This record gives sequence, C-alpha cells and structure tokens, in this order.
Amino acid sequence: MNWRERLPAVRGRLLQDEPLAPFTWLRVGGPADVLFLPADEADLSAFLSALDPAVPVTPLGVGSNTLVRDGGVEGVVIRLAGRPFARIERIGERRILAGAGALDAQLAREAAAAGLAGLEFYRGVPGSVGGALVMNA
Ligand SMILES: Cc1cc2nc3c(=O)[nH]c(=O)nc-3n(C[C@H](O)[C@H](O)[C@H](O)COP(=O)(O)OP(=O)(O)OC[C@H]3O[C@@H](n4cnc5c(N)ncnc54)[C@H](O)[C@@H]3O)c2cc1C
Repeated sequence: MNWRERLPAVRGRLLQDEPLAPFTWLRVGGPADVLFLPADEADLSAFLSALDPAVPVTPLGVGSNTLVRDGGVEGVVIRLAGRPFARIERIGERRILAGAGALDAQLAREAAAAGLAGLEFYRGVPGSVGGALVMNA
C-alpha cells in the first residue's frame, strides 16, 4: 500500500497533490504530495508520531523566503497556519512566548506594546518566527 493511503488520522486538513504556489510569496512552484495543515500542536504531534519515518517532511512558514520547484515537493509539507500556532503571550515582566507560526512583525509590535526591548529588528523581517529561527534571524 502506498504511504499516502496510510496517513494517520488528523483533526486538521490533509490535502493531496496540493499546489504550493499560493502558499509562497513568489506564487510559483509545483504541488506537495501531501500538504498537512494541523489543527493545533496536539494534532501535529500525534501526526508526526504516527507517520512512517521514511516519509520526507518539510515544514513551511508563510513562504516569504521559499522558492518551490516546478516538480513540487516529495512527502508531507507541514504548514503551521492559524491561531493555535500564531499565539503571542506575555509571560511575567520580561518574557514573551511566541508560536512558530506568529509573524515576526507582529511579535515586534507586541513586544513594543509590552515595553520590552530587543525584538525591534523583527519589525522589518518578513515571515514567521519558525522560519526566522531556522534561517538567519
Ligand atoms: C525581503 C526579505 C528581507 C529579510 N530581512 C531579514 C533581516 O533583515 N534579518 C533577518 O534576520 N532575516 C531577514 N530575512 C530572512 C527571514 O528570516 C526569513 O525570510 C523569514 O523569517 C522566513 O520565514 P517564513 O515563515 O517566510 O519561512 P518560509 O519561507 O516558509 O521557510 C523558510 C525555511 O524555513 C523553514 N521553516 C519555516 N517554518 C518552520 C518551522 N516552523 N519549523 C521548522 N522549519 C521551518 C522552511 O522549511 C524553509 O527551509 C529576510 C527575508 C526576506 C525575503
């Protein structure tokens, strides 16, 4: 049986042969074998625990720094979209907790509103916190 027919059950969305162009800023490129939009962290965690480890997994943020090849992406692409992954919460006086799907600029705004210095540079960085950490920010 093909791995695509044995995907774990999820509460979010599993989209087969989903074009990735609309999920990137440059709006080009082919499809993902499977695009997973998890409902929340528990959904993501359960999916990854049950997924065949041989299946390639590619995270995608908001696609500000990703160019998808025309041939698409093999395996499962996971996009952390929506409120459960984009939360930004103040913790005590000096700390902020930001989800990997939170926008960099939004995090800078929230930090400024909370009177916290140090994240000003994020105001001009496109993309999500997860993408920024994996890359150079
Ligand atoms: C015009 C422009 C200006 C920029 N300016 C700056 C700057 O001044 N300073 C600076 O530091 N950086 C800068 N950057 C880089 C910036 O850090 C990244 O482009 C951006 O934060 C990536 O976020 P994204 O959500 O768009 O990632 P995507 O483009 O979606 O993904 C980029 C990479 O990160 C991986 N990734 C994304 N999300 C996750 C996740 N949650 N978990 C694991 N891996 C993940 C993807 O697999 C991919 O390899 C700039 C980029 C651009 C395009």
